[in-house]
Amino acid sequence: MGDSRTERKRLVWIVNFINQDIDQLRSNDFLKLLIELFETIVEGVPSIVLPKIKSGESFLKDTPDRRIWAKSVQARIKSIFAKIYEAEKGKLWTPVLDFSKRISVLVGQGKVMIATSPNFDTDLEFAIAQLICDCSPGTESTRSLENLKRCRAPIGRGRKKTVCGNFFWQAHKKEKNYCSMKCAWRTHSAERKYKKRS
Ligand SMILES: [Zn+2]
Repeated sequence: MGDSRTERKRLVWIVNFINQDIDQLRSNDFLKLLIELFETIVEGVPSIVLPKIKSGESFLKDTPDRRIWAKSVQARIKSIFAKIYEAEKGKLWTPVLDFSKRISVLVGQGKVMIATSPNFDTDLEFAIAQLICDCSPGTESTRSLENLKRCRAPIGRGRKKTVCGNFFWQAHKKEKNYCSMKCAWRTHSAERKYKKRS
């Protein structure tokens, strides 16, 4: 299943990508994201339809439709992470993704053949699930989801209070509870304030 370090790097990039606020990116950062998105995910995934590009125009351009396109890829990936994460605590095995293959019987020239072709509608979701499996510890068939985590850092105050909710990947043994330094710091200072009051 490929080189595990490369795979893990790819997964870390993808987790980082789904946490990006694409609307807030500066033009240069957005173009960098487009290149990396193309190299990391888009190639080899036929169900990702590229935005319409006029002839002679470069794919690498910061336009509203390119941003919408990047956000749609992001939403698809986020949703497969959410599905896996939410089903994780379940006691029973829950199917979160069905990847069906089309099976055809072909006959011709005095011969018969059974051919399978993948269903491309969910190829991105399947690729992401496969990557999560490949990067997780466990046996060939079942893997532990202990490295897939969600950030619980508090955000906002009063009624708007919520948690960060970003997914992140704990790449090392050391327990990691927050998606970023910013969130770790946020939690730390919120706890300090709380302690002062009580
Ligand atoms: Zn966070």
